[in-house]
Amino acid sequence: MKSELDKKKLIIKFAKKLNSTNLSPLRSGNISIRHTKNKEDGFLITPSGMKYDELKISDIVFVSLKGKYDKKNNKPSSEWHFHKDIYLYKKNMNAVVHTHSKSAVTLACMRKKIPAFHYMVAVAGGIDIKCAKYATFGTVELSKNIIKALKDRRACLIENHGQVATDKTIAAAFELAQEVEYLSSQYINCLRIGNPKILSKSLMSKVLGKVKNYKKGET
Ligand code: 13P
Ligand code: ZN
Repeated sequence: MKSELDKKKLIIKFAKKLNSTNLSPLRSGNISIRHTKNKEDGFLITPSGMKYDELKISDIVFVSLKGKYDKKNNKPSSEWHFHKDIYLYKKNMNAVVHTHSKSAVTLACMRKKIPAFHYMVAVAGGIDIKCAKYATFGTVELSKNIIKALKDRRACLIENHGQVATDKTIAAAFELAQEVEYLSSQYINCLRIGNPKILSKSLMSKVLGKVKNYKKGET
């Protein structure tokens, strides 16, 4: 079990990586890790509106699964509602990464999901990667739309906004967000030429079984 300090260090490490890899530059996006503090279940999350490059340990905020946080500290990310709801609805997920990554945003602004144009969409847990309906950032309504798009999935796009990925560890959630970005850019390339052939449900069901045991190593 990692300590609160270790988790805060990890959040800062991956928040800086959001910026340095350009997955979600400057202040966009947010990151959290599930955490229990003084017997209260919740999560540690990046503060709202701060540049990732300038984050310190004391900037990371604890929010309980009841939506409570200490008003004396930094404000948590404006998107704490959907981070909270992901931890409430997906009991075996321990980290959430939200990004405004370039290609995912492009598809999301065209209000397109990512269909099975490539078998790797299965890494998000299903036969496609859905696009959550638009709602104003930071709202309970947006959270509801995201939870719907994440049914049986670990990642989704968000209309006119970006993408969100969740997994058992922060490293795995970050990698999944990178994968969603990569798939988005490949799908956009296909759309430039025409309409790619979409793999059938039965072909994708064979992939889904194999992808579960595909990842080896650290995550
Ligand atoms: P925060 O800085 O409040 O996390 O907002 C960034 C964001 O991506 C909102 O959707
Ligand atoms: Zn956002």
